[in-house]
Amino acid sequence: MLRIDGLNVYYGHIHALKDVALEVKQGEIVTLIGANGAGKSTLLKTISGLLKPKQGSIIFESEDITGRQAQLIVKKGISHVPEGRRVFANMSVEENLEMGAYLRRDKKEIKEDFQKVYDLFPRLYERRKQQSGTLSGGEQQMLAMGRALMARPRLLLLDEPSMGLAPLLVKTIFRMITEIKATGTTIMLVEQNANMALTIANQAYVIETGRVVLQGSAEELRASDQIKMAYLGGH
Ligand code: ATP
Repeated sequence: MLRIDGLNVYYGHIHALKDVALEVKQGEIVTLIGANGAGKSTLLKTISGLLKPKQGSIIFESEDITGRQAQLIVKKGISHVPEGRRVFANMSVEENLEMGAYLRRDKKEIKEDFQKVYDLFPRLYERRKQQSGTLSGGEQQMLAMGRALMARPRLLLLDEPSMGLAPLLVKTIFRMITEIKATGTTIMLVEQNANMALTIANQAYVIETGRVVLQGSAEELRASDQIKMAYLGGH
């Protein structure tokens, strides 16, 4: 579904991604793990058109989307939930979800998708009239994910959805990610919580200082001593 080759991205003189290659198959969860500053967010931003690569290619469903505008990439079926869940704080939950569908004209399907999002996140339905800035961190994460789903993506990019959430909520968010996968949406998941990410993912890539240093099935990586030492608490 998504194929990336020889990707090089710079911030001025900083070489943030170095010859990155990876593949995402339809229907899978692919996780990117790595320390702070490894380049994980940079990779998601480059896929969704927020950053332009200096070299390399990004092919989505047989089409070259390298360097295309972010809006066009959303239209092609890729939605990005950025780190820090930026919801529109002054708008209600409902209005935020409407914003997620702003490029669509299929009114009937949009209505169905509202229902789907509310089924997936009943809490958002309860709070649909509430101003989003007053939601809890976990609720804002649900809203950010729900808003992205309103674009009806085929590929969903999630940047650190568990960040700053209490352990119980982290579990809830991961369960919801699995439910989104079950509806047929393919997912790329950036996580510091490698343990949880490897539990729900099919494939995994480890990124260190801008390079892919290890890749394999999530199962293989969970069993790897190198990963255990560096990312799973050393046990
Ligand atoms: P984290 O988990 O902390 O978000 P990450 O793996 O997502 O880390 P990136 O945010 O992709 O890392 O950053 C990769 C590198 O690029 C880091 O060294 C970072 O300091 C640098 N970087 C990121 N954004 C910018 C920017 N706007 N200008 C300059 N350098 C940047």
